[in-house]
Amino acid sequence: MTGKKKIVMSGIRPTGFLHLGNYFGAIQNYVKMQDEFECYFMVADLHSLTTHPDTSELKNNVYRVLAENIACGLDPEKVALYCQSHVYETAELYLYLNMLAYIGELEKTVTFKDKVRQHPENINAGLLTYPVLQTADIILHRASYVPVGKDQEQHLEMARNFAHRFNFRYGEIFPEPQAFNYNQVLVKVPSLDGTGKMSKSENQLATLFLADEDDLIRKKVMKAKTDSGPTENNSVKPDYIENIFGLMRLVSSEEVITKFEHDYNHCNIRYGDMKKQLAEDMVSFISPKRNKVNHILSDEAYLKEVMQKGAEKARKSAQATMQLVREAMGLNY
Ligand code: AMP
Repeated sequence: MTGKKKIVMSGIRPTGFLHLGNYFGAIQNYVKMQDEFECYFMVADLHSLTTHPDTSELKNNVYRVLAENIACGLDPEKVALYCQSHVYETAELYLYLNMLAYIGELEKTVTFKDKVRQHPENINAGLLTYPVLQTADIILHRASYVPVGKDQEQHLEMARNFAHRFNFRYGEIFPEPQAFNYNQVLVKVPSLDGTGKMSKSENQLATLFLADEDDLIRKKVMKAKTDSGPTENNSVKPDYIENIFGLMRLVSSEEVITKFEHDYNHCNIRYGDMKKQLAEDMVSFISPKRNKVNHILSDEAYLKEVMQKGAEKARKSAQATMQLVREAMGLNY
């Protein structure tokens, strides 16, 4: 890896199967970026401990996320594909950054408030300092760009604040990382029930996973909420209908999209047909990826080697940064 290319960093938690939101919000950009940038992509196993303290399934989940990333087109020869817990320098930087993060700002984070609501029985300090750990992951490689979905916008803003605070107090070490998406706007893949986004943890029947079998994909799409159709030409689409069009724009051909837009605008849309078409386009999109994941998963030795090589690359970059950090902080006695 050369020092000339801009540096990119991102991560995905091994808390469940990857879904279309992960694919279009994150992985699709990773794949495009791997030729142009110096890339660090990690499986965020430490982050998953904030909400999933039971580690009995963790190993399988880490291997699955790795296989899913590779099946979607990430090339472990081009990027550092690694596991967060293998890069011990992260914990040290996290510690220093915690001294620069204020309780008030952490408590205001939307994802923290969401998680408090979802897991009232386990409001741990790791959950509160999640954005600090995430900042450590990113700036450990002095990354400039972070390909993430819209749900991560606030965390990125916090990462910029922490990096800025460090630079201001101890000296300019870190770029202030920016969220990155090739389409300029950050992607939000909506859930099929018309509320919120596709997600690993909420309403799994409204989320399409890369591991879903063809019939399950069809079943989920056919259940998407619709109504009896518009009654006036060119009327504004309700959110849940706009969501179905949005999903179609991700996987269907221009021709198909234009046809259903035209039908909608002329009040002769048949949502049953639209969903059938969307279901088949989803099957064509997902099934080759699902088969590839299963093939890669069957070779554990290969995945272990990928992780080891990835960790070597990531630790080299992390060690160089930590040397600068300790010097800047005056911890070099
Ligand atoms: P997570 O599954 O929360 O670890 O998220 C991994 C990556 O997927 C992050 O970059 C998220 O921004 C992205 N992501 C997750 N869900 C969605 C969604 N429904 N739409 C767009 N991006 C998403």
